[in-house]
Amino acid sequence: MAYETVNPFNNETIKTYPNATDKELEQVLKTDDALYKKTKKQDIKKRAKVLHNVASALRDNKDELAKTATIEMGKLFRESQGEVELCAIIADWFADHSEELLQPKALTSAVTGQAEMHYHALGTLVMVEPWNFPYYQIMRVFAPNFMVGNPMILKDASNIPKSAQSFADVIKEAGAPKGALTNMFLSYNQVTKAIEDKRVQGVALTGSERGGSSVAEAAGKNLKKNSMELGGMDPFIILDDADLDKAEDIAWRVRLYNDGQVCCSDKRFIVMDNVYDKFVAKLKEDFSKVKMGDPMDPSTTLAPMNSKKAKDKLQAQVDATVKAGAKVVYGDQPVDLPGQFFMPTILTNIDKSNPGYSTEFFGPVASVYKVHSEQEAIEMANDNPYGLGGIVFSGDPKRGAKVADQIETGMVFVNNFLASLPSLPFGGVKGSGYGREMSDIGQMAFVNQQLIVTA
Ligand code: NAP
Repeated sequence: MAYETVNPFNNETIKTYPNATDKELEQVLKTDDALYKKTKKQDIKKRAKVLHNVASALRDNKDELAKTATIEMGKLFRESQGEVELCAIIADWFADHSEELLQPKALTSAVTGQAEMHYHALGTLVMVEPWNFPYYQIMRVFAPNFMVGNPMILKDASNIPKSAQSFADVIKEAGAPKGALTNMFLSYNQVTKAIEDKRVQGVALTGSERGGSSVAEAAGKNLKKNSMELGGMDPFIILDDADLDKAEDIAWRVRLYNDGQVCCSDKRFIVMDNVYDKFVAKLKEDFSKVKMGDPMDPSTTLAPMNSKKAKDKLQAQVDATVKAGAKVVYGDQPVDLPGQFFMPTILTNIDKSNPGYSTEFFGPVASVYKVHSEQEAIEMANDNPYGLGGIVFSGDPKRGAKVADQIETGMVFVNNFLASLPSLPFGGVKGSGYGREMSDIGQMAFVNQQLIVTA
């Protein structure tokens, strides 16, 4: 596995990076452990100041960071800019709220004396992150854990080495101590080695089920705390009383945002029969309006996929789904551009025996299903190996919320797109993993929640 920047818009190989050595890993583990021991009781206000500096540095360097991400993984430049801005918002939020979240809290105790919960750093963490949001994925783990005092080793996806290093550079320039976040070009074996090391106390992974289960296996074997943010096939339910125009306007945007390469972007549109034909026609109209091209060009509305490997995988998944009986309503045609472009595609008639029924299309492909009742919509939403997020559209928000309550996922939004904000927990159930990032819950992911009872 080589760490390499290849621009998916024009297939140009820009730079290859050497893997880290075992000696370098050992040095970082030593530095991190020393940092943990030295700073675990540090005044949290000092950390908050650094994290606010990180937010400012991200804003100051927004365009340069955004360009790096776009060149490495292809997303639209304006989406990269939005991602950097969101990272700054997350950094500011944890800088502002962690002191309160990590304050000791009194418990009502059954024993004589005063019971309190105290919150302490655990030690060094390993962070394994994907390429689809080169900065945001890191920030979700970095911000809360920096405030706690857990040093972090970052192993990022091998196709975004410069983005990962740029993020680490911003942290360093903002005044974070050496070891607070170290980006390393680690092999899978070295990730396992780090997890096995007694100085490492936890591992956070965002990625596929395959990567997640392998890293979780190493964590489980070594009794290391871990959180897994994995794939998703989120349902987008449109009930018979929904505002169809609003629902469809959100539907095409969420499906094509980041070229469809988003874990929590809805991939299955479950539509009641009375609005189904209209919805499919409108979705087709909007998919047909996109303009593929240079992601740095503001007039481009659909970016290339992140790599040839990802595009080939998506094509194979679509081919298998069509072969098993799905109907192509739109798309699935070659694109006459040199980069890794995939035509936005709409598939229908996917029955339960079709492999596409439970395949995560990690690209600009929408599957649309017709249902005849609210109950059927709920059952179909839940008949899936994943459980990350979802959206329900209904003219009656109370009805929408009641349906949402029956969906087996970690997050459901009613009558709006699923937003990722620092104040809201992010994460799923079933094949989408376990644990939550962001918010007060994410703040506690890698914390020793210690009970102290004073007689
Ligand atoms: P992936 O192959 O699992 O890669 C993600 C990260 O894990 C990369 O850094 C990868 O390194 C590393 N990795 C994979 N196998 C590993 C192993 N055995 N040991 C150590 N590290 C390992 O995921 P992907 O296919 O690129 O990413 C897309 C998937 O991520 C989708 O399923 C998507 O839904 C999911 N995702 C989930 C969330 C969420 O928050 N729930 C967010 C974004 C994406 P290399 O690059 O070197 O292979």
